[in-house]
Amino acid sequence: MAAEAAAPLYRDASAPVEARVRDLLGRMTLREKAAQMAQIERTVASPRALAELGAGSVLNAGGSAPRERASPADWAAMVDGMQRHALASRLGVPILYGTDAVHGHNNVYGATVFPHNVGLGASRDAELVRRIGKATALEVRATGIHWTFAPCVAVCRDPRWGRCYESYSEDPEIVRSLTTIVSGLQGQPPADHPHGYPFLASVRENVLACAKHFVADGGTDKGVNEGNAICSYEDLEAIHMTPYPDCIAQGVATVMASYSKWNGEPLHSSRYLLTDVLKGKLGFKGFLISDWEGIDRLCEPQQSRGSDYRYCIAQSVNAGMDMIMIPHRFEKFLEDIVFLVETGEIPMSRIDDAVERILRVKFISGVFEHPFSDQSLLDVVGCKEHRLLAREAVRKSLVLLKNGKDQKTPFLPLAKNAKRILVAGTHADDIGYQCGGWTIAWHGDSGKITLGTSILEAIQESLGAQTEVVYEKCPTEATIENGDFSYAVVVVGEVPYAEWTGDRTDLSIPFNGSELITHVASKIPTLVVVISGRPLVIEPQVLEKIEALVAAWLPGSEGMGITDCLFGDHDFLGTLPVTWYRSADQLPLNAGDANYDPLFPVGYGLKIFQSDST
Ligand code: BGC
Repeated sequence: MAAEAAAPLYRDASAPVEARVRDLLGRMTLREKAAQMAQIERTVASPRALAELGAGSVLNAGGSAPRERASPADWAAMVDGMQRHALASRLGVPILYGTDAVHGHNNVYGATVFPHNVGLGASRDAELVRRIGKATALEVRATGIHWTFAPCVAVCRDPRWGRCYESYSEDPEIVRSLTTIVSGLQGQPPADHPHGYPFLASVRENVLACAKHFVADGGTDKGVNEGNAICSYEDLEAIHMTPYPDCIAQGVATVMASYSKWNGEPLHSSRYLLTDVLKGKLGFKGFLISDWEGIDRLCEPQQSRGSDYRYCIAQSVNAGMDMIMIPHRFEKFLEDIVFLVETGEIPMSRIDDAVERILRVKFISGVFEHPFSDQSLLDVVGCKEHRLLAREAVRKSLVLLKNGKDQKTPFLPLAKNAKRILVAGTHADDIGYQCGGWTIAWHGDSGKITLGTSILEAIQESLGAQTEVVYEKCPTEATIENGDFSYAVVVVGEVPYAEWTGDRTDLSIPFNGSELITHVASKIPTLVVVISGRPLVIEPQVLEKIEALVAAWLPGSEGMGITDCLFGDHDFLGTLPVTWYRSADQLPLNAGDANYDPLFPVGYGLKIFQSDST
């Protein structure tokens, strides 16, 4: 009798996680289990979806904020509101809310925006990356969110791919070494943590990570987004799989499947790679999530497997998918899962395994005990300490590619007491361009999209009152001829993009960047700063004309990190994480290739001083 009246075991925080999982699973109907396997978009996360049907997870699509310029408190109120509905469901299972916090909490206005991964790859600084993970986790938790779809551990082998900037490097070892972001986000597991078991140190300060996109997203033919990676299993393992064992050893809670194919087979339906390799060989015990509408993609007409949506769900779930980012057809999904189990298309044991994995992560995350946001954290979003960390990351990510027309007369550092300098270029005064894709909007944007310091502002801040800074985006002939400038700083680069919108075969500098550079450099000694997610074509005549060249990648909100190095307060420490090819005809071109003849090889990077200073 007494036992009957007691709270169910799954609610007992002191009970072992596995016992709680079994207890809760045993109380669920098939429909409730199916609902746990669904991740729905926040715009359809109605009280019915959460309280009546019991959806397991909610996400916001890249940049889909509750409303424009929503404050951290608005975000927290939104997530808490959904959580309240979820807790009102029959068994009161909380949701996990997920977001793409891929370079800081980038969807939130005013959050600290760190350099995109390619810049962190240039820093090769595993501790720095761990600290960035920790800071990001705090900002994400402050908004009530439990889970980030990061890190992207793609090994980008072809810069024509629009997601190269989400990859740390073309070198699997560099990517592997920077998976420290996982322990930054989730906290560091103890030495005796069971291999592959999901981990979260503190529900207050950490968030669940998601290693993505499994596997070979960065290895598709010609760098086509969601394309086909054509390679042997040995190459798959040696190049694209390399970062995963380290993520799994750190207890990464979730892994996202790639939209891409391996030798023609979509990852979303590859039982061999998802179950035999990821869960079997690599011992991953967290849960696997599909990508956005990943199941729908399986059904697209060009896929050979037919276009019956139900059949595609069965294929993916049977291959090992645990949670499905639907994200809109929730009720249909529930019906389909029930139908597929009842007709024997999906074994009940597979559903139980998927739900066990999801519940395990929910229990270890502490969300049952602490479902709501913590108001006292709100001030960490965009705080000074995090901005200083981002500034440090920017300066460590810069790669100095040229300094002085000959090695004897270096051009950098720039003088702080010049009389008059010209700042030019499309990217000199644009926070949005600096941040790149996955910032406020899915594909990013231009202008003052969030708080931060542009490169122009950083230059103005670094120079004393005796220096006149003239800024013209596209300087006129008259300005260049008659300006009496000591030097010019020209900042050019790419316009933000995300996913396939960034696939390119023409990798020349946009907005006639090469012409602008030559125009200025023919009259004024010129430093060029390139803001881009990947190397762009620098023609020989352009390289020859300029005094200095800096690759700044997509540095994020803190422009001062750039001036820290330009004016010599800190040296350049970054080295190329990817091959800087001469022309796009050479692509793909990776270190180690036969006839490797790049403009600058992986690992290249100059310094301005003899000894290091950070
Ligand atoms: C991307 C993922 C992302 C997801 C959710 C997809 O389109 O491929 O990287 O996590 O959307 O926004």
